Amino acid sequence: MIAELFDRNLRWAAGRARVDPEYFRRLASQQGPDYLWVGCSDSRVPANEIVGLDPGELFVHRNVANLAPPQDANFLSVLQFALEILKVRHIIVCGHYGCGGVRAVLSGQRHGLIDHWLQPVACLCRRDAAELDGILDFDARVNLVCERNVLAQVESLADNPFVRDAWGRGQALSIHGWIYSIQDGLLRDLETSIETVADATGRSSAAPKVMRGRPRRGRAE
Ligand SMILES: [Zn+2]
Repeated sequence: MIAELFDRNLRWAAGRARVDPEYFRRLASQQGPDYLWVGCSDSRVPANEIVGLDPGELFVHRNVANLAPPQDANFLSVLQFALEILKVRHIIVCGHYGCGGVRAVLSGQRHGLIDHWLQPVACLCRRDAAELDGILDFDARVNLVCERNVLAQVESLADNPFVRDAWGRGQALSIHGWIYSIQDGLLRDLETSIETVADATGRSSAAPKVMRGRPRRGRAE
């Protein structure tokens, strides 16, 4: 089972080199991605593949429920490196409908350590409890929280000192909130992009009134 993965790796590397003989030499020389992707660990949401980018084009951080926690050393190390060394121009927070992390929170059951990790999602659910209680369908409730969670992470990022410092230095940097549907393979733009300190200032942390996710087919700048 494990040996099979090495066999697959050999075939993959040989296939890449056949199509583009300079491929690995080029990648080895540097990485210069324009994007930092903050996504869920869910195996059905492979960051590079979804947006059709090669290795080296997307700097990726994934965790359960695509959080951008301001006290997580792992995430903050990735963020600082992305902003100060790689100088990415876009941060994309990408959630996905049906997220298991969100389902775990809404189930109301105990799951162990993950309950601590998912506390920011639980806080969101408490904030929007009145509205969520009015949605009878469990999956619809989950999906709404998936969207709200992306918006919350975008707003948290806009307050992050590393992000604020980047804007202060005059760095071009936009933060985007997207959501992906495993059902159809399409990304939805939650239209919550923040590009400047002015965009970030005065935004309401109150819950938006409607679900806004819809497929987007245009170029994402
Ligand atoms: Zn997930």
